[in-house]
Amino acid sequence: MMKSDVYAAEVYCSHCGRKIYPEWARCESCGTPRPIQTASFEVPAEIHRWNWPAFWFGWIWALARGLYTVMGIWLGLYVLIWVAWLVSPFLALAALVLHFVAGAKGYEWDWRQGHWHSSEEFYFSYRRWYGLGWVIVIAAGITVLVPIVWALWSTR
Ligand SMILES: [Zn+2]
Repeated sequence: MMKSDVYAAEVYCSHCGRKIYPEWARCESCGTPRPIQTASFEVPAEIHRWNWPAFWFGWIWALARGLYTVMGIWLGLYVLIWVAWLVSPFLALAALVLHFVAGAKGYEWDWRQGHWHSSEEFYFSYRRWYGLGWVIVIAAGITVLVPIVWALWSTR
């Protein structure tokens, strides 16, 4: 059905690259445990995590990850929500729902469109997003803390 099905039977060692046959639990050469079978469309249990980048960045995350269908639907819904907002500002809260759904399902959507060899490889591809997240948290923390500290210090 999909291109990744072609590779479904082929599993390679994540450490040395040797082919791991279906009956092997680990690599015969180096003993590395068999990577999670990912070439099929099954979603491993560890992919069902909360996706913070999808939650915060929404369609920008979808664009950056190459999830163009998700991005298209997202922007379409934004237009609908914008129209709804003209009817009642309360309806703009529907945008929040969109972000929560993306947080809950984001990793699964992303996983299904790629052809990852392991969940480690998949999550490793997210390291920059989490790096960016820390930069934002630290910058926001400094922005909030510096004026407070300065205010406390200057009133002494
Ligand atoms: Zn190996």
